[in-house]
Amino acid sequence: MVLHESDVQALVDARARVLERIARAAERGGRDPNGVELVAVSKTVSAERCRAAVAAGLDVLGENRVQEALAKAPEVPGARWHLVGPLQSNKARRAVALFDVLEATDSLELLRRIDRLTGELRPDRPLPVYLEVNVDRDAAKAGLDPSAVDDVLGRLGRPAHLILAGLMTVGRQVDRAEDARSTFRALRELSERLRERHPALGAGLSMGMTDDFEVAVEEGATVVRIGRAIFGERPHA
Ligand SMILES: *Cc1c(COP(=O)(O)O)cnc(C)c1O
Repeated sequence: MVLHESDVQALVDARARVLERIARAAERGGRDPNGVELVAVSKTVSAERCRAAVAAGLDVLGENRVQEALAKAPEVPGARWHLVGPLQSNKARRAVALFDVLEATDSLELLRRIDRLTGELRPDRPLPVYLEVNVDRDAAKAGLDPSAVDDVLGRLGRPAHLILAGLMTVGRQVDRAEDARSTFRALRELSERLRERHPALGAGLSMGMTDDFEVAVEEGATVVRIGRAIFGERPHA
């Protein structure tokens, strides 16, 4: 199928607008905007539009379901895929084979399994993972309790085939982005404390989505996961 030039151009423009907002937020936070990676969250977006996204320079795509990513990936050459949603252990093998980064790992058992599978399926390509933290202890959300991360890292040690890239969180549903600031700040402070005790943990902070990414960047996000501000509103489930 052909790419429509207008589709690509619309995504080029959307990307430029988002990068501009990231740059301004980085400036407010006294940070280098090049220290923020943009993941374009393409859940529910067709493979054809994903190809247009890659053509528009959005080559890092985020999916929250393994199944959907497996179906699209062969039709979207040149993309790198981040899993931003929860990973069930029965899909771990396929996820390890497909994804370039796993952003939402949240148990010791899963981390050990992913490490083993990476050694088996891609021993020469270590897999970067983020530990998802449920900073606000919201019962509706996935992620480790903030008090549990230290123990998980202690038991995990230095996994042979994983890169512990950092921590990830999903901000609270708030009316004003500003109200998410305390969540993002808490994740950064947790990361700083943990890294004193666990040098294997990287400094990455994946936080910030369409409604709150500027605040997240001001608070130190190194990865923002943005769907709607790039691809438009998603169809309701
Ligand atoms: C859907 C999703 C996003 C992107 O959300 P937008 O509000 O569309 O930017 C980011 N992170 C996760 C974990 C998601 O599920």
